[in-house]
Amino acid sequence: MAKQLEDSFQRKFYYLRLSVTDVCNFKCTYCLPDGYQPADQKKPSFLTLDEIHRVTAAFADCGTTKVRITGGEPSLRRDFTDIIRTVASQPGITKVATTTNGYRMAKHVHEWRQAGLTHINVSVDSLDPKMFYQITGENMFHQVMEGIDAAFDAGFEQVKINTVLLKDLNSQELPKFLEWIKTRPIQLRFIELMQTGEMDSLFSKHHVSGVSIRNHLIANGWLLKVKDNNDGPAQVFYHPDYLGEIGLIMPYEKNFCESCNRLRVSAKGKLHLCLFGEDGVELRDLLADDSQQSQLIERIQASLQTKAVSHFLDEGKTGMTPNLASIGG
Ligand code: SAM
Ligand code: SF4
Repeated sequence: MAKQLEDSFQRKFYYLRLSVTDVCNFKCTYCLPDGYQPADQKKPSFLTLDEIHRVTAAFADCGTTKVRITGGEPSLRRDFTDIIRTVASQPGITKVATTTNGYRMAKHVHEWRQAGLTHINVSVDSLDPKMFYQITGENMFHQVMEGIDAAFDAGFEQVKINTVLLKDLNSQELPKFLEWIKTRPIQLRFIELMQTGEMDSLFSKHHVSGVSIRNHLIANGWLLKVKDNNDGPAQVFYHPDYLGEIGLIMPYEKNFCESCNRLRVSAKGKLHLCLFGEDGVELRDLLADDSQQSQLIERIQASLQTKAVSHFLDEGKTGMTPNLASIGG
């Protein structure tokens, strides 16, 4: 086994977020408001199944235990089930997760589960079908809800929901969301809107901090959960009267990056040490065949030594990330 992934600030990396496509069929106002636009006329070439196998094998060899398959919309890949199977087959990878907009779940989530998917996050920005449409540009609220039911049917004990907090759009829906999770094993995670390179006035119009939700939870008897070493950055709260949990992801809080435990590989095969702020390290030239696995591991290890201490978002930086679909949010 290769050396464990550790940066120069003694942070250890157990968690890989692997993007498998930049393409998406939704038009979320904060991500791809005009829908997916290819960078040039040529058909984009995303990582093949073999390349995905090699890159996850390298990470697994360095101690990665959790891989999240993301995008764009990962389930748009025709070979999505094979991708899950490939990732799940790596020795040492015990958690195989995906983040999806959920539109294909009702039909396919059983098959994904059988292929080895252990965790699923679904993006649901509103429980009001009209507001859902306004935020995502797609009239698929009911289809996504059916998908969530299907996930429970397929045997997922918990489903995580991602909700981007948007002032004046969904920020009044807390009571509705709390009611929804009262009797369902859902971990609902409110994510503060992050400013990206392509975002215009949306950020100043709709960004709202999660602090008021945190205060509300604490005042109403919710308790903070202790974290595991490959857990994400969410502060998770539980309550004895609720089957579900509430997570808060607040990237603008000071010290957010101290607990960073994840690395990213983009759909075009670049290693990103942070969601924000750098151009990425090319890995694709080392993914063509199995003979370059040790060079691949060396490049990942060496690049990690250049990881910065913070994304400096709290100082107003947006870095070079145009939108989260392009790097795998
Ligand atoms: N298409 C899938 C989905 O929406 O679940 C996976 C990719 S999407 C980029 C991953 C997550 O990033 C989603 O939950 C989405 O809501 C979130 N996201 C995208 N842009 C964001 C932004 N600017 N600020 C905060 N969260 C964002
Ligand atoms: Fe697509 Fe996900 Fe971005 Fe929405 S957040 S546009 S579903 S990639």
